[in-house]
Amino acid sequence: MLIRDLGEFALIERLTARLGPGSADVRVGIGDDAAVIATGGPKDLVFTTDSMVENVHFRLDFASPWQVGWKALASAVSDIGAMGGTPRAAIVSIAARGDVPVEQVAALYDGLAASGERHDTRVVGGDTVRTDGPMVVTVSAVGGCEAGQAVVRSGAQPGDVVVVTGTPGDSGAGLALSAAGKGDDPAFERLVRRHLEPTARLREADILARGGATALIDVSDGLVQDAGHIARLSEVGIEIMLEQIPTSGAVWAAGESLGIDPMGWVLAGGEDYELLAAMPQSAVPAAVDAVCQEGGVPPAVIGCVVEGEGVKVLDGQGRLVPVPKGWDHFSPKA
Ligand code: ADP
Ligand code: MG
Repeated sequence: MLIRDLGEFALIERLTARLGPGSADVRVGIGDDAAVIATGGPKDLVFTTDSMVENVHFRLDFASPWQVGWKALASAVSDIGAMGGTPRAAIVSIAARGDVPVEQVAALYDGLAASGERHDTRVVGGDTVRTDGPMVVTVSAVGGCEAGQAVVRSGAQPGDVVVVTGTPGDSGAGLALSAAGKGDDPAFERLVRRHLEPTARLREADILARGGATALIDVSDGLVQDAGHIARLSEVGIEIMLEQIPTSGAVWAAGESLGIDPMGWVLAGGEDYELLAAMPQSAVPAAVDAVCQEGGVPPAVIGCVVEGEGVKVLDGQGRLVPVPKGWDHFSPKA
């Protein structure tokens, strides 16, 4: 069997089955946004890694090397936030061909440094290797959270509501606009920027985690697919009300400009780096207030957790809305 016939998630399952059981200090192992390890002290260690491959995750004709560096670090620390953790440091590995201009890698590091500054995460080491293929940037990030307080994907309870920060779909629209040669249109600047220079929602994650979130994930594969991870691991169903999902005006304008239904980006676009959480309804107002007070991107209620399984998206009349597939690295369209 080939990797592409198995798909990304089944492959990860097949591989990790070979690793054997973890040790007792592993509080959260494979399957969440990041791993959590007890240290014996008041803080747990949270860590994660993320690779970005040229022509798969980034194209240097759309993205500047600076933006590639910025995004690589933002996407790694986003996974630490999605555990309710605070990132601290990162290690960066670069694989590049010998004919890559030095200035390109230097600019990538300027982007990494700026993103590190913004996300309070220093680059403290790494590795530099030659490849004969596309460039690969891998960022491993480490952080901490109060011992035993990480928010996993598996804690959602029937009766909780589901919230999302920001306006999902913006990143997917930004990518589609760039691919269609419309990325330079000033009307779409925010969408393209959200795709190429995302900021991880770290303050928001902290507020949601301390404010009663029972499950938390960052939206990297698409809203519905990531809701599916919470549903599967929490052994619950999730119902999302299409009309309650906040969408930006720009995403609709982008849909119009490209002749594409923007709800595809909203539901399945991926790389939004927004946060999706389950929490008791009673905890939502305080979380929204706290986020607004800190000048963050507030969460909005978009659905609820129910007994059952899977994710359903319902329109205003309660009819089931078909959802395009989210991101799988090895699916034929990826
Ligand atoms: P995210 O989208 O939040 O970055 P992924 O979908 O990349 O998460 O990964 C899902 C889970 O599978 C994570 O817990 C990750 O650590 C784990 N994982 C992914 N690839 C591997 C691998 N090759 N070996 C072990 N664990 C892996
Ligand atoms: Mg994640």
